Amino acid sequence: MRIILFGPPGSGKGTQGDLVERRYGIPKVSTGDLLRRAVRERTLLGIKAEALMNRGELVSDEIVEGLVRERITTPDTRRGYLLDGFPRNLAQVRSLEAMDGARPEVVIEIDVDSRCLIERMQSRLTCRTCGAVYNLRVQKPRTEGRCDVCGGELYQRADDRPEVIGERLRVYREKTEKIRAHYQAKGVFHRVDGSGSVNDVFGRISGILDRELAHRDADKAQR
Ligand code: AMP
Repeated sequence: MRIILFGPPGSGKGTQGDLVERRYGIPKVSTGDLLRRAVRERTLLGIKAEALMNRGELVSDEIVEGLVRERITTPDTRRGYLLDGFPRNLAQVRSLEAMDGARPEVVIEIDVDSRCLIERMQSRLTCRTCGAVYNLRVQKPRTEGRCDVCGGELYQRADDRPEVIGERLRVYREKTEKIRAHYQAKGVFHRVDGSGSVNDVFGRISGILDRELAHRDADKAQR
């Protein structure tokens, strides 16, 4: 199964994707994480992507499609994968279907209002070494400025600064309608309320996934 977590920046896709990965054993594929790693490692692709990312603009379809294609053909994705941050426009939707069209999919949008998104992004810190994410209001690191997992330095992503957040939300809204309409027409689209605690939201997401998995098992048993 392919799970697509869809939602504006700051809606909690990354955190929820990690929980889904842990509960269902389906690896999370985050294009933002793959790009940030390329930037950290100073690869050619990372150097090309960095300035666009820092301005809150989208990286070229060709680059992200290449990263996704490479990642979803590794053996650990045989049973499925969860996409976080991809597809982000209709061209990417089509390219995903061309890469791996036959796989059943579930699309879940996490719905959070703009004021809450801005607050969350402004208080988010990310580990420079392992990419773990913290929130200064609800999920503080044990030692200030240091990652609980690996001890790496925590920093504020350049694109989480107030002057860039508005642009990221604008880009998201501009592309969203068509993606949502596409998946609604396919009958695979769900929306969950993204407010409340991490566990509240995970409860809503896992409710949908449990029902989907039960349907698929029942279908298989009938065949
Ligand atoms: P995210 O961590 O998903 O918010 O992504 C951070 C940044 O990476 C975005 O603002 C874009 O610059 C870039 N990016 C991530 N995913 C994509 C994508 N599917 N298409 C284009 N650019 C992307």
